[in-house]
Amino acid sequence: MTRLSFTKLSLFEFCPTAYRYRYVERVPMPFVPRIVVGSIVHSVLHRLFERLQESQRVDKAVLDGLHADYWNDAPQLDRERFPDMWRDGQALLDGYWTANHADLGQPVLLESRFRFRPSPAAGFSIEGVIDRVDETPSGAAIIDYKSGRRPERLPDRLRAQLHTYALGVEQVHQRKVERLDAYFLADNDGISIRPDPDYRDALLGRYAATADRVKAESFAATPGPHCGWCDFRDRCPFRATDT
Ligand code: SF4
Repeated sequence: MTRLSFTKLSLFEFCPTAYRYRYVERVPMPFVPRIVVGSIVHSVLHRLFERLQESQRVDKAVLDGLHADYWNDAPQLDRERFPDMWRDGQALLDGYWTANHADLGQPVLLESRFRFRPSPAAGFSIEGVIDRVDETPSGAAIIDYKSGRRPERLPDRLRAQLHTYALGVEQVHQRKVERLDAYFLADNDGISIRPDPDYRDALLGRYAATADRVKAESFAATPGPHCGWCDFRDRCPFRATDT
């Protein structure tokens, strides 16, 4: 049984050679401050939402304390060495608090893991971790936090991610999913869609084809404009020359 995650499937679709670098050769990922800040903010919000679930005190001082704790507990992070990263993370958290403190909602699932087989005959499984699931009167609402800015339209990668999570919630947690939200912390604005069964079925077809190619170790490069933001562009001999 081949175990795939949304991240793996998405990277293979981005470029099979990038998948090979990351998951077969296990090339270390470069240190990208923006990505690290996003990860810190995710963890801090997760701890804040856990307190909500446990009916513990939640206010701005608590949020700031959780951010400080994260830095104090991480041996590789040092506020004096990375002042910009500290400031950027704090700005995202300040903005989130200002925009949402009046109603932080009530999460029912946090950092929820799932793994399912798309069909009994499928030779692969899909797994992942969902940031947050809330309950609405008509069903579950999946929320995925992004540290960047809100795009004008939901990119296909995010649409695919949210629909993959909906499958995870429906199959593993047996909950009907009513809403899919991507929340962009840099703008404190979101895009909300309803699950689309036709899109979901087409996505599962895409995933089955990708899983076959992963199993066949078919890692031929697909260079293009996207090489410009590939994590492996500095080592890749197939990189498009104009990127
Ligand atoms: S640089 Fe381009 S061709 Fe090379 S792995 Fe990245 S996306 Fe693929």
